[in-house]
Amino acid sequence: MRPRPPQPSALRFRHRPTHVRVDRSALLHNLAVLRRAAGDARIMAVLKADAYGQGLIPIAHSLADAGVDYFGVAFLEEGIALRQAGVEAPVLVLGGLVGYQLQHFLDYHLELTASSAFKAQQIDAEARRLGRVARVHLKVDTGMRRIGTRPETAIKLADELARLPGVDPVGVFTHLVGAESPAEPTSRQQLDRFDEVVAAMRDAGTLPPLVHVANTAALLSLPDCQRDVVRPGIGLFGVAPASRFPQADALRPTQSVHTEIVFFKGVRKGAGVGYGHTWHAPRDGWLATLPVGYGDGYPRALSNRAQVLIGGNRYPVVGNISMDQTMVWVGDDQFEVGEPVVLLGQQGSETIDAWELAEHAGTIAYEILCGWASRVPRVYDDMPPSQRVDDDLPPSPGRTRGGSL
Ligand SMILES: *Cc1c(COP(=O)(O)O)cnc(C)c1O
Repeated sequence: MRPRPPQPSALRFRHRPTHVRVDRSALLHNLAVLRRAAGDARIMAVLKADAYGQGLIPIAHSLADAGVDYFGVAFLEEGIALRQAGVEAPVLVLGGLVGYQLQHFLDYHLELTASSAFKAQQIDAEARRLGRVARVHLKVDTGMRRIGTRPETAIKLADELARLPGVDPVGVFTHLVGAESPAEPTSRQQLDRFDEVVAAMRDAGTLPPLVHVANTAALLSLPDCQRDVVRPGIGLFGVAPASRFPQADALRPTQSVHTEIVFFKGVRKGAGVGYGHTWHAPRDGWLATLPVGYGDGYPRALSNRAQVLIGGNRYPVVGNISMDQTMVWVGDDQFEVGEPVVLLGQQGSETIDAWELAEHAGTIAYEILCGWASRVPRVYDDMPPSQRVDDDLPPSPGRTRGGSL
């Protein structure tokens, strides 16, 4: 195995109270749960958007160490990042591609998604120019209307791919529009439609070896959807694909987000708080100021809605969230500067999960997970402390506690 470069974002940890913590033991637990559901199918771990906000490279290395031998990403640059970090397993880039990217796909041995005869011919031409063979997955659009070729044209495209000398057709796949709603018949209809296409390719002798459909929601709730490969993303990170999705109850969230109180402000009854004074103190009391804001990925839409955990209890976010700071009403409760605050995750017996934040912000848990900004360090629970300290900065004098009122 090649030496692994240190992770720059983790190195800043000690110097910023706000950080995303990643529990890699939960990652391995979730992998085991998903493997059971996958049966004989191979797992392609989908690690797009920086592994759903948790750090592409550390997550890929952990999964590779646990035996995952196939990765999916959205974009070329994510695939290149995996290669530059020494990941040698096959990597499929699931998204659409443009012609000028092709040489890089081939240089970095990334698998491509082809959705049309035009794309297939472009890939073939570039591969032959470079004296290579491109590994290609044919994408069939069974309802998403995003990328992919229509079922009617898929069979002809498979035929074409099989005849292009610069192309090795390794897979055929589709994506479901609503597997997180198991009661909806759409997934079954899409699967049936896809199966017809696959059967026709098999009859024509043009079926690529790897057939794949299932995302996390399908894998956990749609019977008989496994095929040769399954493509879980969010399930690896222990978050359900929908707010009410009991099939995901065995999963454990890998991501939690932490900060610390940096300041207390005593306010009189009626005092307005934050930009636009959208909240006024109901009585004399204390505000705790947190060094986190929408510039960190704590959505401004959570203003006057979300709660945080301090000392194992819930406290409300009050006033508008700023780019870098957030105020919390603690009333008469006593805390110290440096007191740990949980924005997402568990503290004592209380938990704020990604769906709770998502619903307050009018979005889905996926967007919360991958929305933490790059300035927020990612910290891995199993990382040796020596890797967490930044050598470029002077030694930390330690945390200041108390006495700052
Ligand atoms: C994101 C994605 C997945 C993974 O979806 P989850 O719901 O996170 O499991 C699988 N396949 C494709 C094509 C995707 O874009």
